[in-house]
Amino acid sequence: MTVRIDTERVFNLIEEKRPTRIILNAPGGLLRQTMDLMQIVEKKYGAHCVLVGDSCFGICDTVDKEAEKLGASLALHIGHNASVQEVGDYTYLVDAKDDIKFDAVVQRSIPLLSKYKRIGLATFSQHLDELEPVKKQLESAGFEVYLGRKNNLLLGSQTFGCDFSTVFDNAEKVDAFCYLGQSEFHAVGVALATGKPTYLLDPYLEEMRDMKEEAEERQKRAILGVYKALDARVFGVITGLKEGQMMVGRSKWITNRLQANGKKVVQLAMRDITPERLAQYIHIEAFVQTACPRISIDGFTFSKPVLSIPQADALVGLLEGREMKDFLHRPKWIELTVGQIARKSR
Ligand code: SF4
Repeated sequence: MTVRIDTERVFNLIEEKRPTRIILNAPGGLLRQTMDLMQIVEKKYGAHCVLVGDSCFGICDTVDKEAEKLGASLALHIGHNASVQEVGDYTYLVDAKDDIKFDAVVQRSIPLLSKYKRIGLATFSQHLDELEPVKKQLESAGFEVYLGRKNNLLLGSQTFGCDFSTVFDNAEKVDAFCYLGQSEFHAVGVALATGKPTYLLDPYLEEMRDMKEEAEERQKRAILGVYKALDARVFGVITGLKEGQMMVGRSKWITNRLQANGKKVVQLAMRDITPERLAQYIHIEAFVQTACPRISIDGFTFSKPVLSIPQADALVGLLEGREMKDFLHRPKWIELTVGQIARKSR
């Protein structure tokens, strides 16, 4: 049960690019392995490695611009795989795979899933290799199993916490989704976006967990946030400064709609949107943030409404006299800009 960084890809990239300085970034769970990798690279190639220590939660957290600032000619973004392999001018995605197997948890889940016939599978980067074996195991037990289709950002059946587009269309074909891994965060997203019963298949605890309660709780909070924001007179509209979340156009659209409906708007830009950062804006009564939607949907510690894009759409709808729909039921909660960063010629 080990998460292994694809060091072969790292070595190949270094041998091809011959950098003298490399920057790296990785999510919290991979920092130890990333620091070990830095030592190996420095010893093997003599290249100077710098770990960018800002928050890194997803594929949106690449640090291409930091490479230029730090004089590096190669940036390695560890742990978030996708169908996009290169970002911007310097950044390459480097996969990290978990070698845990799902046989035991699937075997235990089969009787519990017996009320369903058609199962959709989804997972995140680290367990993608397990999709096919799990599919075969479930098919042998008599289920019809559906994998999601690869697209221009995600690999087949892969989801991010904000993008469920590979499996969204399967919602019409399946009775339930099984999410491979330990990430309740990702599985709840699939439940909310597809509206289907979703079960987390945890290979470490060897248990299957229904995401219904967690999904309902988040949905209620998301709706409540919209209603709380309805009466606010002054809004802060925050554009995220992370490379993969630069939703400048969306921020502008929301600003225009709020202003057209009589709201005062202060436009802000931030890299990390936290309760501490927002606390200083005492005259702002509600926020809309066009960065990571999970900040709003899972962020339970803000003292004022902080709406994500889907919630802001619902708010604008209410202000303009439309009924509130199931606003989280959509394939993507944000249009990530990963892979759209213009590349200078090198
Ligand atoms: S914007 Fe999407 S990819 Fe980035 S941290 Fe949030 S959920 Fe993950």
